[in-house]
Amino acid sequence: MGAPLIRAIYDRTGRALTIGLTGPPGVGKSTLLCALVRKARALGKTVGVVSVDPSSPFSHGALLGDRIRLTEHFTDRDVFIRSMASRGHLGGLSGATADAVLLMDAFGKDVIFIETVGVGQSEIEIAELAQTTLVALQPGSGDSIQVLKAGILEVADIFVVNKADHPMANQLKREIRSMMEMLDFSGWVPELVVTQAVSGEGIEELWHAIEKHAAYLHETGAYKSKRRMALTHQVRQLARGELERRLEIQLRTRLDERIDPYRAAEDVLAALAGPPGIEPDGAGESSPPRATVKGLFSGN
Ligand code: GDP
Repeated sequence: MGAPLIRAIYDRTGRALTIGLTGPPGVGKSTLLCALVRKARALGKTVGVVSVDPSSPFSHGALLGDRIRLTEHFTDRDVFIRSMASRGHLGGLSGATADAVLLMDAFGKDVIFIETVGVGQSEIEIAELAQTTLVALQPGSGDSIQVLKAGILEVADIFVVNKADHPMANQLKREIRSMMEMLDFSGWVPELVVTQAVSGEGIEELWHAIEKHAAYLHETGAYKSKRRMALTHQVRQLARGELERRLEIQLRTRLDERIDPYRAAEDVLAALAGPPGIEPDGAGESSPPRATVKGLFSGN
């Protein structure tokens, strides 16, 4: 994927319902996803799934069969599944993910799921590309509290306590509730849904919570600020990626050891400030970094 493609389809985006799903390995994300896709298909909706594993060095489909158990949906042409890796994308993993979401949106998928493994900050950021962020938590794993402390309370729109059949499920539910009581939510108060993904128990409630959140976003206009946030994030990632790349070029090619580091940093910054902006269409000068910028952003 690249800039020309995204540029061409961008004005056809903004229609899909996008849902992020994140949680530690083994919590049941794939099983939940499978059940949610089934639900969406039963409602006649077309579906896109972008599956992201930040820890995986592999790319694309090879591991997909293992990673997500969506086999029952593999032959459904209205379910499009893509697994992501970060390599080669200027905006990193979240940039690549955002591109995939935009494409699926432009293709006309009604619902797009963004699944990420783990509950660190970067995974949360990826999940936040979506309008609605689901955080799945695992009963009986001591790290739930750690996870909740790590800023996740603030980003979760819906908590999913999966494995309702687990003896500690109720305790986890209580822990989340008491943590939520300590916070002052303005606007949306996260929903808490208990599911048993393998049997499908709670999936109706989960879908209902997703729809409720979507309705909230539209009624309050928060939908627009969410979209803007996701866009800001994507632009920041792209610009930051490009800036870092240019900086590295400057550091490799310009650095003069006889100049003190402060002065050298000023020189490097002055050089970076040189040509204004990114010229995707090939206009403008052709200084070395600029030429590469053109190449990257026009997808040569
Ligand atoms: P992921 O790593 O988060 O994608 O988790 P998976 O969907 O692969 O599920 C991990 C394991 O938990 C699998 O063996 C699932 O069958 C199992 N699992 C998923 N949901 C439930 C549930 O509600 N109850 C129980 N007991 N097991 C579940």
